[in-house]
Amino acid sequence: MQSLLIKNGLLIDPASKTERKGDLLIKNGRISAVGKRFAYAPGEMEIYDASGMWVFPGFIDLHVHAREPGGEAAETLRTAARAAAAGGITSVLLMPNTRPPMDSPPLLRKFIIKARHRCPVNVFFAAAATASRAGKKLSPLKKLKAAGAAAFTDDGATLAGPALLLSALKAAKKLKIPLLDHPEDFAVAGKGVVDESAAKRLKLPAITREAEIFAVLRDIFAAGSAGPIHLQHLSCAESVAAVRAAKKRGLPVTAETCPHYFSLSSGDIKQPNADFKMKPPLRRENDRLAVIRGLADGTIDAIASDHAPHRAAEKALGFIKAPFGIIGLETMVSLALTELVGKGRINRLRLAELLSLNPARILGLKTKGALKKGFDADLTIIDPLAVFTVKNAFFSKSSNSPFIGRRLRGRSETVIVAGRLVFSGGRFFKLRALRNM
Ligand SMILES: [Zn+2]
Ligand SMILES: [Zn+2]
Repeated sequence: MQSLLIKNGLLIDPASKTERKGDLLIKNGRISAVGKRFAYAPGEMEIYDASGMWVFPGFIDLHVHAREPGGEAAETLRTAARAAAAGGITSVLLMPNTRPPMDSPPLLRKFIIKARHRCPVNVFFAAAATASRAGKKLSPLKKLKAAGAAAFTDDGATLAGPALLLSALKAAKKLKIPLLDHPEDFAVAGKGVVDESAAKRLKLPAITREAEIFAVLRDIFAAGSAGPIHLQHLSCAESVAAVRAAKKRGLPVTAETCPHYFSLSSGDIKQPNADFKMKPPLRRENDRLAVIRGLADGTIDAIASDHAPHRAAEKALGFIKAPFGIIGLETMVSLALTELVGKGRINRLRLAELLSLNPARILGLKTKGALKKGFDADLTIIDPLAVFTVKNAFFSKSSNSPFIGRRLRGRSETVIVAGRLVFSGGRFFKLRALRNM
């Protein structure tokens, strides 16, 4: 494999907590050197001029629904992976709520191989924590790990039974695999479709906010006694406060939030447009601000998209009948740049922790998440000055985004995966057809 030199970029490395202008050399799919300036002979290597760009370790999205198998009309492995690459993401963790669910080793093996052949980014699979995601008995976790599972979760549903939750945590700890929970107490949630704060105004039934808070408190308690837990899509101020307190006590808890929870609140739902319908729902403005504080002070470890594609016909059923979920792979990075870095809430190094270093650590990926010699050459190269309006023209097969029409600043210009140029300047590259760009 030829060498690739990334020249003159601002290199942002969350592991060493440094930002410096310099060059980065890639050989055989790995970072082979990081330094000030490297000399090279003409034609000796391919050159990528990153002047004016920010070079991050490739961004890792811990929460993606690719819908394959069973929901290919809304998304496939390939379209999700292409949407990820176009959005500046080099690795995705897929959720197991497919049809059938990812709860058996042969099924998992089949799709791991399929993803390897079809996807331009790294694809990791979370297997279902319980058989059929039914919440009754654990899946064959040890065998699923051997088949390649990177995490366990029943996302879409919480691990409701306390005994089941404890045994799942213990098993995952023993196997050294992260256990992710969708914290939502269904008995409390009711049949609502929006947060309490918007229910009256929109004349829609409310989702009780305690549904999330109770589940978060229970999960934190369980983590303290049985093993590490990762909390998915935090949206309430009380949840953020509970995780902050748990971390202070040294409990093994990590947490993610999604771009919509720091970019939108329930007041942004101007009319009942189902592209604003997701779970958990958009909350009050003070929840949004609490999520931002949690991202800034280290309480929340990661930003993940919860990319949940649905066909336009399904989302057109109206707010009550339409399924929950929005797409997010192609807007996540620009929303974080605009709302968090652009508004001075966090700096670039913290962004690199939230999108690269911490997700890599949560998944136990020892050669991702940093710009370090020997690490995988997965890079996200950002053009910080790019200003654009989100258009209904996604690489995803679906377009259920509440951000269409929103103006954003900063976007991923180029994505490199294992040293290979995948996406740059708005288009995909089949080969490493890059020379003296
Ligand atoms: Zn979920
Ligand atoms: Zn989800």
